[in-house]
Amino acid sequence: MIFGVCLGLPSQIELKDLEGEVHQDIDMWRFWQLEEGVLEIDPETLVTNDGKIPPVLHIDTDAPLYSTVDGSLITDELWGIYYKPDWSFGGIQGGASPYTVDTPVNEVAIDPYGPESKEFTASKDFPEMWVSALAHCHKRFEGMMPHYHKEPSGGIGCFTPDSFPVIDTYNENVTIIADSNHGYKMLGVGCLVAEELLGEKQELLEPFRFSRFQAGKLHPVSNSPYPWS
Ligand SMILES: Cc1cc2nc3c(=O)[nH]c(=O)nc-3n(C[C@H](O)[C@H](O)[C@H](O)COP(=O)(O)OP(=O)(O)OC[C@H]3O[C@@H](n4cnc5c(N)ncnc54)[C@H](O)[C@@H]3O)c2cc1C
Repeated sequence: MIFGVCLGLPSQIELKDLEGEVHQDIDMWRFWQLEEGVLEIDPETLVTNDGKIPPVLHIDTDAPLYSTVDGSLITDELWGIYYKPDWSFGGIQGGASPYTVDTPVNEVAIDPYGPESKEFTASKDFPEMWVSALAHCHKRFEGMMPHYHKEPSGGIGCFTPDSFPVIDTYNENVTIIADSNHGYKMLGVGCLVAEELLGEKQELLEPFRFSRFQAGKLHPVSNSPYPWS
């Protein structure tokens, strides 16, 4: 968004949706609040049976989620969490599906960012939801709520209208990889963009051009509770 302003690009765009209907003045950027936290227990609690570090686990489900604190129903709608043992955080670190930030995008105070932000940190309901979800997945986490590290966490992430990256060249000589919070999945993109800058058009980048919004060639809406998968 900030780059867009500097480049004189519009904050609102025309967009053709997946049904072919054209919409005007759609925000080019929107923020979501990513919720994250830490359960302060021995990270070894979550190593594999042979003592190795497991991959980051992601669970999406619509199974009813009950509180590990008092057994009450937290949700019977789609929910998701991710988690991993993390020695730098000193426990099990992870997060849940983010929530949308309703503040108009140009009024969002990005700084101070993350835990320092007074406005954008994990919601008050996040800790019980996340720890209960851990307990839903592994019996070993039942009743672990007192170990939740009570500190602000998470941070805001910036997304495009279809929540997929935009990779394009603007104003003739400014190439942008706006990753829409896709993170590590973008590792190979730098190489493709470098090849393109050297003159070789990259077919793999075509689905990520800015023109897709006007042309109605949007990426499909995610079936998961996350905007980025
Ligand atoms: C809470 C949270 C947790 C996350 N966890 C993970 C994770 O576990 N794994 C994962 O893969 N991804 C994760 N992500 C997503 C990942 O952090 C982002 O996808 C990634 O950082 C995007 O990298 P980037 O270089 O494209 O943009 P950024 O990291 O946002 O870098 C852009 C930089 O440009 C600077 N900038 C902006 N405008 C200007 C300007 N006009 N002039 C000069 N500088 C400017 C910004 O200050 C910033 O430093 C997480 C995101 C959040 C918010």
